[in-house]
Amino acid sequence: MSLIQPTQIPFDDTRLATARAELLPALRAFLPEDAILARQEEVSPYECDGLSAYRQLPLLVVLPRTVEEVQRILRLCHEREVPVVARGAGTGLSGGALPLCDGIVLSLARFNRILDLNPDARTARVQPGVRNLAITEAASAHGLYYAPDPSSQIACTIGGNVAENSGGVHCLKYGLTVHNVLAVTVVTMAGELVELGSAALDSAGYDLLALYIGSEGMLGVTVEVTVKLMPVPERAQALLAAYDDVEKAGRAVGDIIAAGVIPAGLEMMDGPAIQAAEAFVHAGYPTDAAAILICELDGTNQEVSEQVMRVRELLLASGATEVRTSKDDAERLRFWKGRKAAFPAVGRLSPDYYCMDGTIPRRALPEVLRRTAELSEEYGLRVANVFHAGDGNLHPLILFDANRPGELERTEELGGRLLELCVEVGGTITGEHGVGIEKINQMCVQFSPEELRQFHAVKAAFDSKGLLNPGKGIPTPRRCSEYRQLPDRQHAHSH
Ligand SMILES: Cc1cc2nc3c(=O)[nH]c(=O)nc-3n(C[C@H](O)[C@H](O)[C@H](O)COP(=O)(O)OP(=O)(O)OC[C@H]3O[C@@H](n4cnc5c(N)ncnc54)[C@H](O)[C@@H]3O)c2cc1C
Repeated sequence: MSLIQPTQIPFDDTRLATARAELLPALRAFLPEDAILARQEEVSPYECDGLSAYRQLPLLVVLPRTVEEVQRILRLCHEREVPVVARGAGTGLSGGALPLCDGIVLSLARFNRILDLNPDARTARVQPGVRNLAITEAASAHGLYYAPDPSSQIACTIGGNVAENSGGVHCLKYGLTVHNVLAVTVVTMAGELVELGSAALDSAGYDLLALYIGSEGMLGVTVEVTVKLMPVPERAQALLAAYDDVEKAGRAVGDIIAAGVIPAGLEMMDGPAIQAAEAFVHAGYPTDAAAILICELDGTNQEVSEQVMRVRELLLASGATEVRTSKDDAERLRFWKGRKAAFPAVGRLSPDYYCMDGTIPRRALPEVLRRTAELSEEYGLRVANVFHAGDGNLHPLILFDANRPGELERTEELGGRLLELCVEVGGTITGEHGVGIEKINQMCVQFSPEELRQFHAVKAAFDSKGLLNPGKGIPTPRRCSEYRQLPDRQHAHSH
């Protein structure tokens, strides 16, 4: 039984067609014609995000250009009780931007300007539809960059990053989105404009900025973001270590951090991921290895020289069969080339893949990798692992074929078991991709009913009618009780 997959409602359903016809004139009263998409062929590109197993056509799509337009859209929807799903680039992997059949999609694609870049204060004020990489491209002229670097950074937007509290390779040392955003301007569902955070280190009252970052488009619509910029380090160097055993590689990760070294990035790929990446981009990876670690160190020349020597010793002591050190920037980038292309590379191995995202304490890495292999065997589904090892942020990629009857359901179930394994070893069901629709059942495993009540209370404080991205992120008590009663979930309990 799948509790996740919603039934798709047809676009021309009579009730929806009536609702669409009623809403359109009210939107046309203040939006130009090109800001409203109302035909099936126009809205179909918005039917899913990066989690394409789940699809639903929205009632309408709106593409406002100004903050005032966003306010008017939200006020109107608030008054008429129409649900709203905000959307950036649609690269999310947990179904966060999945539309609702009776709701509108509010695309921030036209909010794509960098409003101000201040090299002295090392900040940039940007609109939410600006791509993550575009911030670094603009800042590079001043020797600065924006640190959080999701693998999707060429496409994903800063508004989406704020909603998901996105991470990336460099977050081990430089933090997630929440550590790199100073302020956001938000329109609430009732159409009010509020500013959260400031340039100051601390602010009075509750830290609403921290609460808002990672709230998955459920508390407000971001219309402006102020980010911190970092100076580009003097030097960066990477090591690539090969292992004949995945668990040894897992242990090496803990050894590096325990030695007091904080790498700029510490990533791991297992055999299937190495082979797929090598076949795809020819990065020169050792294809006979059971696992590789890529460890990047950055800082001043002296710091990097010392740390490279220290990490090399640690890697060899942990049983690496080969350790390479990048001789120049071209080689460093080659080490990363396969890692950066790993998702699409693994995507070539089977008709479909499902990318999970959970976080565990680093010490549990060897055990979780072993049990992942056991579960992969039990379900008869191949799993490739490529992940932010330094953060303990796993990304098991389950390979499947959606055209084979029952395989998507088995994949979902295996994904759920892997997330619950993360909770069992003291971790959490999400690292950086959010809960969305994908992990909503596992929220019932991670949190108690009392804790979930607090989540609902926060949601209600921002969005009293529950119209912003409803059905995502926080399960209802009823959903949890149904999930807990599923026969193979009788063992599951919170914490
Ligand atoms: C190949 C690939 C690699 C990836 N690698 C990483 C990675 O390394 N690290 C990582 O963290 N993620 C990664 N992701 C996931 C994804 O790119 C991130 O979650 C990203 O932040 C989503 O941004 P987006 O603009 O595409 O948002 P969308 O997918 O459009 O939306 C995501 C969520 O944000 C909300 N939202 C979007 N814009 C706004 C706004 N202005 N106001 C309020 N809510 C809003 C939506 O409602 C939705 O809930 C990857 C995805 C892919 C496809």
